Amino acid sequence: MELCDKTIHDLSGMLAKKEIQPSEIMKSALSRMEKTGEFASFIKTFPEEAMKCAGEQDKKALKGSLSGIPVAIKDNMCIEGKGTTCASHILEGFTAPYTATAVQKLLDEGAIVIGKTNMDEFAMGSSTETSFFGNTLNPWNKDTVPGGSSGGSATSVALGEAAGSLGSDTGGSIRQPASLCGLVGLKPTYGRVSRYGLVAFASSLDQIGPFAKDVEDAAILLKAISGYDAKDSTSVNAEVPDYPSQIKNGIKGLRIGVPREYFLEGIDNEVEACVRKAIKDLENCGAEIRDVSLPRTEYAVATYYIIATAEASSNLARYDGVHYGLREKAGNIIDLYKKTRSAGFGDEVKRRIILGTYVLSSGYYDAYYLKAQKVRTLIKEDFSKAFGEVDVIVTPTSPTTAWKIGEKTDDPLKMYLSDIYTISANLAGIPAVSLNCGFSAGLPVGLQLQAAHFNEAVLLRTAYAFEQMNDYHKKRAFSETAENQVKYY
Ligand code: GLN
Repeated sequence: MELCDKTIHDLSGMLAKKEIQPSEIMKSALSRMEKTGEFASFIKTFPEEAMKCAGEQDKKALKGSLSGIPVAIKDNMCIEGKGTTCASHILEGFTAPYTATAVQKLLDEGAIVIGKTNMDEFAMGSSTETSFFGNTLNPWNKDTVPGGSSGGSATSVALGEAAGSLGSDTGGSIRQPASLCGLVGLKPTYGRVSRYGLVAFASSLDQIGPFAKDVEDAAILLKAISGYDAKDSTSVNAEVPDYPSQIKNGIKGLRIGVPREYFLEGIDNEVEACVRKAIKDLENCGAEIRDVSLPRTEYAVATYYIIATAEASSNLARYDGVHYGLREKAGNIIDLYKKTRSAGFGDEVKRRIILGTYVLSSGYYDAYYLKAQKVRTLIKEDFSKAFGEVDVIVTPTSPTTAWKIGEKTDDPLKMYLSDIYTISANLAGIPAVSLNCGFSAGLPVGLQLQAAHFNEAVLLRTAYAFEQMNDYHKKRAFSETAENQVKYY
């Protein structure tokens, strides 16, 4: 196995025993990147800088839990001195003046950033097809989408380009691409990770989280990025558990709920079969499986697309041709706004700004925005009630596996409905994780686990227990040599 296909915890173990050096890991990751360019994980890469940094680390003692580990960062997180495009034309030429806290925390632990990953424009989408820079391909099947909006962060890890990566999740943008690319992807509790330096899409829903090859790696990354940050007033001053040391505690007696509303129409049969089998596995690990109800689930997508677009319309008002990036030539200021915004935003972003402006406008505010806020509270109540009865809620992550490129681009509603299982966690602010629970026609199927606020530890513990019963997490989408090309389906 190439070094770049190994997990972070394996690499860290080898580094600690001095069996390898950071530069060897970096060489392996960069040489993989040369072979996987067609998948288009990245908007920008920093190979020379990353190699130099790894070489310097060779000479020093290990710095932290991520020493010498190549990581990739979604291109909506700022890194000082580097471009941050959000995959939008409107931010072309913009250089970030500071570094996002979550990224800084990875750097403080010794991680080395190899590139900024491709995404749906301003994180609006479920397939990484709305990027101004073109789409990203699914590592398991090039004809299909990797999911979105953090598609590039997912593919970079699935291809072995990066050992781990960061994405952002507003309505599923970490968990859904993790599901479609066969990875572990975790959306932390709202407030667990600082959003400072994350370009805002919908501020009450956005949260940064990790992509990893397995649960232990996800625990290491989550620990590194979590914690209070004075620069983000929504970050919460709560103790950060030592996630990696808690994952192996087992799930004997844990109460796991299966919400009946998540297994109705629209779910693919094979996806359902994999998830049902996973639930059996969890039961065999000693968990107690219970039926629960989340009755307002059917309103989640509509509620989300009112609140998210309303917040987006306000957040994206700052891209006016004056402050950042693109500036079109114009005779007066109004013209400048119009021309810059018309040329700078793609269709999906425009659709959302228009929708968001509409639901906030006088006369419609009460009927749409205010009502959506009330329904959001009801959805939150559903979860509070359910978490009175169970510790973890298990569902599919996505109703289907990866779909064909272009299949949903002309039908926004169809695209929006693919988020049906992930959106509620953002509305409620609770943590959720997706992990691989099987394959259907060669494409990974994701299992989603959700828990009460700040209970990421129980998610990771449950996910780890599941991993021990299966070997899906050991499968790699990309192989260097034909004889290593294992078919998993
Ligand atoms: N797919 C959802 C959307 O289009 C979620 C995106 C996200 O989580 N950033 O809004």
